Amino acid sequence: MKSAGEFDLIEFIRAQQSVDRPDVRVGIGDDAALLHVPDAHSLVLCSDTLNEGIHFPTGTDPESIGWKSLAVNLSDLAAMGATPAWCLLNLCLPESDARWLSRFTTGFFELAAAHNVALVGGDTTRGPLSISVTACGFVPDGLALKRSGAHVGDDIWVSGTLGDAALALRRMLASESVPHPLLEALDRPEPQVALGKALRSLATSCIDVSDGILQDLGHIATASGLAARVNVDHLPSSADFDALAGRKERLQLQSSGDDYALCFTADPACQSALLELAGALSLSLTRIGTCVAGQGVEVLRHGVPIAHGHRGHSHF
Ligand code: ADP
Ligand code: MG
Repeated sequence: MKSAGEFDLIEFIRAQQSVDRPDVRVGIGDDAALLHVPDAHSLVLCSDTLNEGIHFPTGTDPESIGWKSLAVNLSDLAAMGATPAWCLLNLCLPESDARWLSRFTTGFFELAAAHNVALVGGDTTRGPLSISVTACGFVPDGLALKRSGAHVGDDIWVSGTLGDAALALRRMLASESVPHPLLEALDRPEPQVALGKALRSLATSCIDVSDGILQDLGHIATASGLAARVNVDHLPSSADFDALAGRKERLQLQSSGDDYALCFTADPACQSALLELAGALSLSLTRIGTCVAGQGVEVLRHGVPIAHGHRGHSHF
């Protein structure tokens, strides 16, 4: 037997949604959603959970939690070159708090509307604060970006800047001031959906940087059966990061994760097309290394191999 509170919460969530897509034949309200996938396309699915105290500090504003819970999933779809379309929201809440939920849905639906993503269902339960989102998109058959397509000789690229979110979190936990752009990087990462779609015809492999650039690049290296050689002097950083990160902690912060940039490989012949794309999308793309024969991730500083213990994020 469900309390009236649960249905009130679901109805509140449903009423906040502005996106209306014709391919949603049945959305929130039945036992399951009924969705139309376009002909000659593959369905792309991913799921990510944010737990209070683990993925975001207790006291994080609800708008940011709403935004980020969807953003990390759209980032995974972007890394596959997919067009996002629908999502499911599994909410575990400690109490029925209308004010909190209203602020949460503001952030969630702001990002959903920006990418025309319809919320088509979910589950609402009581317990320690945890938000799990499943995102669905589609990609033309055969054009999805995978971790496994890199070739020896390909360039390694990354979008945007690395380390901003890690630096913001470190300063916040130390009760130090956090400049606005760094806070935005932590709380409201922008999933690189347009870039992912454009890379379908340019990249040979792709991954989103959620667990740290060196660790995530390691996944491309393993899946593609080669080694990734990275020049740490080339890792892109923001002006705020440069101003506040100490020289010795740069690499550690830049390989901590939570960046939601796209890291990808491409044939060197694509270099000018990629720089043109960066201009068209008003984002930066930086060449940070090369794929070579071997295995794992080789890290160079000023051209000289260095040992690195920066394994990125792991839950266990
Ligand atoms: P059931 O008991 O059949 O699982 P529920 O009562 O849990 O159904 O949910 C009723 C409807 O509300 C379903 O369509 C479900 O997908 C949707 N729903 C439940 N919780 C959420 C949520 N947090 N966000 C969006 N839709 C939800
Ligand atoms: Mg249910």
